[in-house]
Amino acid sequence: MSALIGLQCHLCKTTFPADALYVCDRCLGPLEPVYDYGAVRLTRETIEKRPKNLWRYRELLPIAGEPRTGFNSGFTPLVRCDRLASRLGVRELYVKDDSVNHPTLSYKDRVVSVAATRAVELGFTVLACASTGNLANSLAAHAARLGIECCVFIPDNLEAGKLLGSAIFHPTILAIAGNYDDVNRLCTQVGDRYGWGFVNINLRSYYAEGAKTYGFEIVEQLGWKYPRHLIAPVAGGTLLPRIVRGMRELRDVGLVDGDLPRVYAAQAAGCAPVVRALEAGLDHPEPVRPDTIAKSIAIGNPADGYQVIQCVRATGGSGAAVADAQIVDAIQLLAETEGIFTEPAGGTTLAAAIELIGRGVIPRDESIVVCVTGNGYKTAEVVADRVTTPVRLSRSFREFEAWWAAQGRGSTAAALKV
Ligand SMILES: *Cc1c(COP(=O)(O)O)cnc(C)c1O
Ligand SMILES: [Zn+2]
Repeated sequence: MSALIGLQCHLCKTTFPADALYVCDRCLGPLEPVYDYGAVRLTRETIEKRPKNLWRYRELLPIAGEPRTGFNSGFTPLVRCDRLASRLGVRELYVKDDSVNHPTLSYKDRVVSVAATRAVELGFTVLACASTGNLANSLAAHAARLGIECCVFIPDNLEAGKLLGSAIFHPTILAIAGNYDDVNRLCTQVGDRYGWGFVNINLRSYYAEGAKTYGFEIVEQLGWKYPRHLIAPVAGGTLLPRIVRGMRELRDVGLVDGDLPRVYAAQAAGCAPVVRALEAGLDHPEPVRPDTIAKSIAIGNPADGYQVIQCVRATGGSGAAVADAQIVDAIQLLAETEGIFTEPAGGTTLAAAIELIGRGVIPRDESIVVCVTGNGYKTAEVVADRVTTPVRLSRSFREFEAWWAAQGRGSTAAALKV
């Protein structure tokens, strides 16, 4: 049912069979699945009738047989944010909200659904990953329901909620003394030597394709239209180019037309190799040593940095790097205006959007999608000193009345409207 034909080098275009390959043996370029788009017979109606999960676009996903997991992953809300829009002085603003993705509350449930399904097809018996937290959470959960052995590698300084989000599923957890880039280097060596299925290393060609579904859904949820502007966070650089690739594919198979959105890369100032490269006119990011509260996107040497830069430029977009204080302010603003609680990655993306609107780069009267990719419950530490503290009372009604009177807001129930 999938239109998958094989893999192809992104740079020199050499073709390969659809195996567990991820770099071109001629030029070391990344490998991407290729599809026979002409063979895809899809209508809007067919897609709309399917279950609300990421497999509704399965013809354009790189699996050979039936999906094995992710039956409730994807198809997250595209929230029209009018209160936030009016605060920012823009006309049409949406949040694509993967903070409520099933089952582990981040965009990683998309890439893992696809990579884990493909890993089973290819016969892997151990699933593994190098992660800044969310990927480990998602892989551990999907491996648990598949009943497959799982081993996650993380930096040893992650937030308590991120660690718990893996630990409850009982994978093997290796907390490495170092940052994500150190963890990734180690995992590449382990993958080569032990033959484990590292979803974001040797299965990366398949993993990355899962991220296209984020783009497919935005187009469908806008009523089969492209937005004009889209701001996405960048860590390793998987998500941003695949949103665009997915959107372009929908046009290639005749489901949408018009111009692709302008796409903007959001990074934390403490780890902004891609934004710096965009600003300096470089093709490849210079690696940096991360120092930011946005740990889930703290990757100093992004695997797909080149692709992000090409993609952003091709759409006419740009980038913005934002300070940690702006990130926390944006988390709070999104919570107070729209009732959405995101982690620092989402705060980074909204803060970057605010910055780009403020600079006049994004016009105020065109449609804007902000990509919110993770959930705030996992990173309670960053907002601990900002949240409302409860008023503590005994069970006595008299004490309640005394407290209310002391508020000076009147004594009737109607006063609550204030
Ligand atoms: C992994 C992740 C991203 C983006 O990572 P890429 O490697 O660039 O795809 C963004 N937000 C959150 C919350 C993440 O966990
Ligand atoms: Zn090549």
